[in-house]
Amino acid sequence: MCLLGEESKKTVFAPLPDGTYPLLWGHALNTGEPFFTNLPEDHLSFSGLPEGHIPIKCFLSVPVKYTDKLVGQIALANPEKNYSDHDLMVVSRLAALYALAINRYRNIEERQQLMNNLRQAQKMEAIGTLAGGIAHDFNNLLVPILGYIELTMMQFPASDKNRKNLEKAYIAATHSKELVQQILTFSRGEKQDRKRQQLQPIISETMKLLQATLPSTIQIRQKIDENCGLMSVDTTQVTQVLINLFTNAYHAMEDGKGTISIQLLEVDSPTDQDFGGTFPAGKRVAKLSVADTGVGMTPKEVARIFEPYFTTKEKTKGTGLGLAVVHGIIKSYGGAIQVDSKPGKGTTFHLYLPIAQGEEEPSEIVSDETFCRGSEHILVVDDEEIVAEIVQEILKTLGYKVTSCNSGAAALELFEKQMGEFSLVITDQTMPGMMGTELSERIHTLNPDTPIIICSGYSGLESEMRSNATGVRRYLMKPVKMKELAGVVRKILDQKG
Ligand code: ADP
Ligand code: MG
Repeated sequence: MCLLGEESKKTVFAPLPDGTYPLLWGHALNTGEPFFTNLPEDHLSFSGLPEGHIPIKCFLSVPVKYTDKLVGQIALANPEKNYSDHDLMVVSRLAALYALAINRYRNIEERQQLMNNLRQAQKMEAIGTLAGGIAHDFNNLLVPILGYIELTMMQFPASDKNRKNLEKAYIAATHSKELVQQILTFSRGEKQDRKRQQLQPIISETMKLLQATLPSTIQIRQKIDENCGLMSVDTTQVTQVLINLFTNAYHAMEDGKGTISIQLLEVDSPTDQDFGGTFPAGKRVAKLSVADTGVGMTPKEVARIFEPYFTTKEKTKGTGLGLAVVHGIIKSYGGAIQVDSKPGKGTTFHLYLPIAQGEEEPSEIVSDETFCRGSEHILVVDDEEIVAEIVQEILKTLGYKVTSCNSGAAALELFEKQMGEFSLVITDQTMPGMMGTELSERIHTLNPDTPIIICSGYSGLESEMRSNATGVRRYLMKPVKMKELAGVVRKILDQKG
């Protein structure tokens, strides 16, 4: 910027598109060398003056460099007498000082920026750890909640009013389980159990859950193409994606009324720029859309919605994690998301997922309505008494003989004392003293034929455990549902013989 001009008119000097600097003032910047001239019009770089600039009689310019990097320029003009070498030397020294000052100022600014980033990252990490811890404990509490509801539900015939009420409580508790899972996913990274399967049954199951939990003032419309191809996905994750999108859609409804539509169909690869490189052209992909008649969003909001912790909701309603999780899951499937939204015009999320080649892989969920039963003796280990108790209770209901312990050491002692008595050991992973994996190894040493199931609240631990624990047949995620436990226990006991 130059202050020599008409009254209050400042000339701004800017670099050319090719990065070089024009006119006389640019000469020192381009060459990196200080210079002066007392006959500017004869100078090789002179090619006129900016409009409105006063005439230049003498000109001196020194580039300001900090370790070879150009950080500024000192330019002087029109002194009372001509410039000399001495002037050039003085200004050059000044420029060296000036460079140090600029550098120091930039360092301070940069450090401040880094400190801010660090603080923000530390805060996010603290929130993640805290949320993960709470989610872990809450997850453990959900074991008895889900378990006792299931046990009590079985006491009533399907038509009984009490059973219907318990079913509602069960659905809500299941929903809590999914939410907790989401927080654990976010704070630890995720175990995936991807299988080539149809999306349709997952959608219809989730819609049942949502219909039961959303108020009846929200209409749900479904348009599902039953012939849509297979996708390689994890059931829990897809459920989570749908719950997150529907929850947001519901929150976006003014006075709690409106329509949410879900559509699934197979389409050609989208060619839109947004999807550049994601899908090979000419391939078929599944398009899953969730549209709402809610308040919509401004482009500014849309630009930020996938950022973790971005929320426009009050503290009790929003965490800002919902769409970050959706984004993470869809990206991990090699998919893409497109958002259409306008204030007052509602919002539509289009999720594109690649269609998988190959046969359908049956999911391991026990679909048989009747529970698998047995009478073998099972050793249950969990440091939390109430968890051990409910697992014991469930297995007893299924006909098994059960003994429970509250520590790895106690379990090991018992196992050694009653060698050959137990047909199966079910243990928690995270326990003070001895972890589930260590207990498994020691039991395996004592009797390599005894199968072991490890239950854990941390999905991320699975691969870790898988690589070093011996004797472990299955890993189950807490809270384990009765039907799943019944199925897995029976299957492992049957494999044994
Ligand atoms: P949260 O719901 O906890 O705020 P999300 O990541 O799920 O976090 O969403 C982030 C933000 O995106 C929301 O706070 C909201 O402002 C906006 N948003 C998401 N979905 C919709 C929607 N269907 N309609 C309007 N705004 C939405
Ligand atoms: Mg949300």
